[in-house]
Amino acid sequence: MTNFLLSLIIIQNAVFYMKQKPILIIGAGPAGLTVAYELSKKIESPIVVVENSPSVGGLSQNIYFKDKIIDIGGHRFYTGYKRVIQFWNEIYPFELKKENNSKFLIKKREVAILFNQKMFDYPIRLQVSLLWKLGFYNFLNIIRDYLKERFKKKKEITNLEEILISRFGKKLYELFFKEYTLKVWGIPSNKIKPEWADQRIDPISIRSILLNSLKNFSRKKTAYTLSALEEGETFLYPKLGPGAFWEEVHRRVSDSNTKFMYNHSISEIQVENNEIKKIIIINNKTMEKKEYSPEFVFSSIPIKDLFNYFPKKTSEENLFKIAAHLQYRDYVIVPFLVKKFSLPVKKPYNYEWVYINTPEVKLARLQIFDNWSPFLNKEKDLNWIGVEYFCNEGDLFWNKPDKEIIKNAINELKKINILTEQDVVDSTIIRKTKAYPVYSGSFIDLDKIHSYLNNIKNLYPIGRNGMHRYLNLDQVVLTAISSVEMALSGKTVKDSLWKIGDPS
Ligand SMILES: Cc1cc2nc3c(=O)[nH]c(=O)nc-3n(C[C@H](O)[C@H](O)[C@H](O)COP(=O)(O)OP(=O)(O)OC[C@H]3O[C@@H](n4cnc5c(N)ncnc54)[C@H](O)[C@@H]3O)c2cc1C
Repeated sequence: MTNFLLSLIIIQNAVFYMKQKPILIIGAGPAGLTVAYELSKKIESPIVVVENSPSVGGLSQNIYFKDKIIDIGGHRFYTGYKRVIQFWNEIYPFELKKENNSKFLIKKREVAILFNQKMFDYPIRLQVSLLWKLGFYNFLNIIRDYLKERFKKKKEITNLEEILISRFGKKLYELFFKEYTLKVWGIPSNKIKPEWADQRIDPISIRSILLNSLKNFSRKKTAYTLSALEEGETFLYPKLGPGAFWEEVHRRVSDSNTKFMYNHSISEIQVENNEIKKIIIINNKTMEKKEYSPEFVFSSIPIKDLFNYFPKKTSEENLFKIAAHLQYRDYVIVPFLVKKFSLPVKKPYNYEWVYINTPEVKLARLQIFDNWSPFLNKEKDLNWIGVEYFCNEGDLFWNKPDKEIIKNAINELKKINILTEQDVVDSTIIRKTKAYPVYSGSFIDLDKIHSYLNNIKNLYPIGRNGMHRYLNLDQVVLTAISSVEMALSGKTVKDSLWKIGDPS
């Protein structure tokens, strides 16, 4: 009897899948999961999510190491989009005005720069301490160079270095941006397109530094407000790490009509008359293939990879070249469980992370996981921190054995007086490819890729690498929500999707 019922259910499912065309989502990171969640609320078509790793959450996933949680990069949840706040609130209800029992912690951003064995608040503020930390001569040069930029005739800006110098002045740029940008991107800032700064660098100026200092001087302790969340000064942080939030989204969609195919990838995409007619999916382990004729496809995978699945036509050779030359920056984090660590500043250290702005070491940032959430590390007498490196997949650093990278990280921490090997209790290492889409290489021709992808009626590119844009979680979520709305309302003009995240 049970067997009979079971086969009945299987047949019913099979008939259902045959009757309706499935919707395919490629990638189960924040973008793909948001699409799955939004679709599952609105329609009953079968949804298939193809994910080439064994887990969900993409760059924003939790990595579990023994009983500890690693957040790749430290993820602040902040936004100015009401629609995104509504989405976060649906998953983890929260009350901004009060600390309550929500699964989100309400955090204040506390970041510093370690430079020349001194700590500087980030964003930099014009305070007396800045004068004695940098010296009178440097301080004067900062003001002089800044004023010079203000009175200079404006010329067309063609790279990141020019934009930074024009905003901050040469001296401030040289002290705080030049080396760090090189560490993060691996190329000098004059080789990076200025669009990145438009999206990412707060347009702080000496004027706003001054205003900030005045505000700080007179500021009473303010309640958390929506505008603070918008600026990122205050942010939400899932108590159990960002990945726990995405695991919850996944749990909600798993109840519905959605099938997750882990360790699967795409083998081929067939396009006819500007429409995806067929997608062939491959099991990474068994190499078994399955065919789908999707109604819509939402792709959050790197554009460079997506193009590998399209049939190559000689008429589109140039386009394939552009996609093949898109560049990415890869990422390594070395988490350490330590007895103690020190920074050249009075305790307690409340920073969530510290930028390491010294050229003597390759490490770029220090994460203090305990300050993101005390729930990431249960061992209260030990500290849980992470050392971040930016590199390129396959370069000398990336290819080093794990043990060597860990040893190197300890040596570097020792060099800048943060800890010694005797302080280290445990450690691990995580590598992430394509953590950042780079705004150089063939980025300049990206609009040609946009037009090509826009023309495929039932394809919606979404998310960070899916659009090759340096998008944060909120913007990624918005690309997902907006593309679902577009697809379901039959809109095929997708230009507005590519504008999400542009400065307003
Ligand atoms: C160091 C660091 C710090 C960050 N800090 C913040 C922050 O503080 N605040 C913030 O808002 N954002 C932050 N971000 C950005 C945030 O992580 C991303 O915006 C977000 O994770 C992108 O989501 P996504 O779904 O577009 O892409 P991803 O997270 O990259 O997900 C894509 C998914 O597709 C899968 N995939 C790839 N190729 C294939 C394929 N061929 N077939 C099937 N599946 C495939 C991947 O395994 C992955 O699961 C940070 C990012 C990094 C790297």
